[in-house]
Amino acid sequence: MKRLLAFATDAARANFGRTRPFKLTFIVTEVCSCRCAACQLWRAPRPGPGLDEVRRFFAANPHLSWLNLSGGEVVEHPCFVDLVEAAVRATRVYALDFPTAGQRPEETEQRVRAVLELPLPRLFVTVSLDGPPAVHDRLRGLPGAFERAGDTFRRLRALGSRRLVVRAGLTFSSWNDADPAGLVADLLAAAPFLRREDLHFNLAHHAPHCYRNRRVDVPDDRRVGEFLARHGAGRLARATPLALLERAYARLSGDYLATRRCPLPCAALAASAYVDPELCLFPCASWDRPLLDLRQFDYSLARAVRSTAARAARRELRAGRCPGCWTPCEAFPSLVAQVLPAALRLCRARRPAPAARPLPPEERPCERA
Ligand code: SF4
Ligand code: SF4
Repeated sequence: MKRLLAFATDAARANFGRTRPFKLTFIVTEVCSCRCAACQLWRAPRPGPGLDEVRRFFAANPHLSWLNLSGGEVVEHPCFVDLVEAAVRATRVYALDFPTAGQRPEETEQRVRAVLELPLPRLFVTVSLDGPPAVHDRLRGLPGAFERAGDTFRRLRALGSRRLVVRAGLTFSSWNDADPAGLVADLLAAAPFLRREDLHFNLAHHAPHCYRNRRVDVPDDRRVGEFLARHGAGRLARATPLALLERAYARLSGDYLATRRCPLPCAALAASAYVDPELCLFPCASWDRPLLDLRQFDYSLARAVRSTAARAARRELRAGRCPGCWTPCEAFPSLVAQVLPAALRLCRARRPAPAARPLPPEERPCERA
């Protein structure tokens, strides 16, 4: 309960613009067993910090309440459970999420079971499935990748924990964007264990510091934008906070693709931050702008975002001089930070317009017969 309250307080404070990053994307390692076409990390992966340094990092940031551990393939990290335990013990983390390509089903199941032993209120795991078997295996560069990812999804779902949310993540890139609706239909036909509402859509962005990818990897704006506008939000099975966030994210994805600008005021370096495997601070997963070495700030994000470099970057992003993006890593905290302003706008829009005050005779326009 204490963790939920802290998280709710952070989210509320973000709505008033008074915050330090409570949502962190932490690239723990770039090591990965996949050979993806739209990501080149696997060619020369950086291993990431050791467990002792990760413990020091979390100890310096006890206010974190929402953690995205990513890679590389973070669940394949030899110390994965210890890393999560370090975060849970040292911070007030309420929600922790990580993506996985799901290539080691049994090991992933064991590790998720071990994480569920920790006092972590919510664990979100997204298993990547980028299309039916032929498309997915080609994209991931591994024969049998679809089969293993499906096995991982089923195993995690079967754990049946109320604290665990398992989703299937479909990332649109130039490698699978020819017919988005057909791709989704083919995926659902090939994976009877998946329901439409299990799918979380994502957009590949050009982000060299994050994927070492190329501009040609991003999907076609028009095709994917049209699909997301029509089908992206899907059916709202349950009005959970996550489902509402997913819906808002999908609905605004079309706006992003039409303009290539973030459709909301961005929360990067205010509510959220991005840290790479060498503990370098970046604004986000999309802006290849190294700001500072956190080791020189005693690992403290609160101190780092007050630095001259971070303040300058924040001014630039406010002025629209960042690449502009709409990735869940930053879009979700931006959506959370906009709940109150959006509700206020809605209330103002619904409030009946005040009756027009009659003008005094001297201000009335001439009336001609
Ligand atoms: S996209 Fe993910 S799964 Fe694929 S190589 Fe990169 S880190 Fe690994
Ligand atoms: S809008 Fe700009 S600063 Fe914000 S997350 Fe996207 S690229 Fe980063």
